[in-house]
Amino acid sequence: MAGVSESKRWFRFVVVGGGIAGVTCAEQLASQFPSDEVALLTAAPLVKTVTNFRQVSKTLEDFSVEEQPSSVLEEKYSNLKVIQSAVKGLHAKQHRVQTENGQVFHYEKLCLCTGARPKLLTQENPHVLGLRDTDSAQEFQKHLSKAKRMVVVGNGGIALELVYEVEGCEVIWAIKDKAIGNTFFDAGAAQFLIPTLEGDKPEKALPCKRTRYTTDQSTDSKQGSKLLGSALGPDWHEGISLRGTEEVSHKVHIEYKCEIKTIYSLEDFMKSPLHRQQTDLGVWPVYAHLTNGKTYGCDFIVSATGVVPNTEPFLHGNNFELAEDHGLRVNEHMQTSEPDVYAAGDVCTAGWKASALWQQMRLWTQARQMGWYAARSIQADVLGEHLELDFCFELFSHITKFFNYKVVLLGKFNAQGLGSDHELLVRCTKAQEYVKVVLSNGRMMGAILIGETDLEETFENLILNQMDLSSYGEELLNPNIDIEDYFD
Ligand code: FAD
Repeated sequence: MAGVSESKRWFRFVVVGGGIAGVTCAEQLASQFPSDEVALLTAAPLVKTVTNFRQVSKTLEDFSVEEQPSSVLEEKYSNLKVIQSAVKGLHAKQHRVQTENGQVFHYEKLCLCTGARPKLLTQENPHVLGLRDTDSAQEFQKHLSKAKRMVVVGNGGIALELVYEVEGCEVIWAIKDKAIGNTFFDAGAAQFLIPTLEGDKPEKALPCKRTRYTTDQSTDSKQGSKLLGSALGPDWHEGISLRGTEEVSHKVHIEYKCEIKTIYSLEDFMKSPLHRQQTDLGVWPVYAHLTNGKTYGCDFIVSATGVVPNTEPFLHGNNFELAEDHGLRVNEHMQTSEPDVYAAGDVCTAGWKASALWQQMRLWTQARQMGWYAARSIQADVLGEHLELDFCFELFSHITKFFNYKVVLLGKFNAQGLGSDHELLVRCTKAQEYVKVVLSNGRMMGAILIGETDLEETFENLILNQMDLSSYGEELLNPNIDIEDYFD
């Protein structure tokens, strides 16, 4: 960690946040401007670096993330200084940031990459946990190791992973939607995945079933018949034991279309009318009363209902334009509304007119892309170059794993924003693959590929080139046709 002397407090470029966005941005600036000094100010002792980067296809990227001491960055770039201290204030007009340990840094260009924190149901209850960084994962593990039952609230990626990974603890999963995982996929895909959650061993693949139907949102779903560390990533549960005290492997009960209405401590619950109505709920440290009228006692509650961008230290005295989700709104060059202040990753909200095939989602891949592109935009600004929006914002693409299946999401994979003006093609082989294609006016707009489908590159091309596929009809998903050859 670099010691910063009193006189050495001007850096041409200052980046705040040692997560993927901040580290990528700082590294890019340090390599593009070798004779200028770059400061990376971060609250956590470790920084996140991208390793094993693999360009899977034109837009799909796969990589691992490692937590490393900041010295690794300083050894790699002699002009990059990492300073561990949380930023507590920004004076954008004076181009100055102030850290909690009293240091003041002046900059020419600043990039804010402070990530986001979990939206907690309540801040004060020790039985309500959020998952964000290494500390919160350890806290979760500590609670789990003594638990028989937990309630999970939320339906995004973290909740999905959690209910699948946890063993030896009953999970009551409360979701506000009518299907699991609807941030990432539709009810059909949820149906495909649920048997895995119920602990069934993968069955021998049944003959392939194909369906074609036109749908709008409602019919679609019927078909399925101190939080300043970097955010954890896809592998957050690797190397930590996610086991409760019970013998069971998976035991998940899903409560659909509901949220938590009230959380009771044991004492409050005993005094409440609910206890008088229902005396057989057992004795638990905490009780969750749901909006569907049911009440569950449990050892603890995990609140996985999304994140809030970490903007607070920067708002006082400045004039940032905030988006509806409270992120710092950035334009197509990652510039905020304050001059010379850029933002990237979970803390920002894309304010430009997005391509018809892209949407922002607070994910690792986008944090890396935005961090890189923010540095590129700063460079263009400093050098007076013209810069077009990067190609990575042309098509949404994400590769991940849910319930041990490879999952690839492309473009408007859930027909986002297409209203009823779309058609779906689905191919599903139980316990093996689920393929869904979203078509609008005969053009492919998005796809969900679950399992080893090997279709990602071909579909990515079909989405990008917007070829009229009307004449191919259902053949597009015919498992007996090698689609790659078909479109060669
Ligand atoms: P962060 O990684 O949150 O980094 C923010 C940095 O800012 C940290 O270093 C922090 O210390 C620092 N900081 C904060 N406040 C201050 C301050 N005031 N002063 C100085 N420094 C500050 N994404 C996926 O793509 N796939 C997944 O499977 C996936 N799984 C996830 C599982 C979990 C449990 C969680 C929590 C997230 C997951 N994500 C996943 C999301 C992904 O981790 C984030 O989108 C991504 O890490 C955001 O990167 P970032 O650099 O913007 O922010």
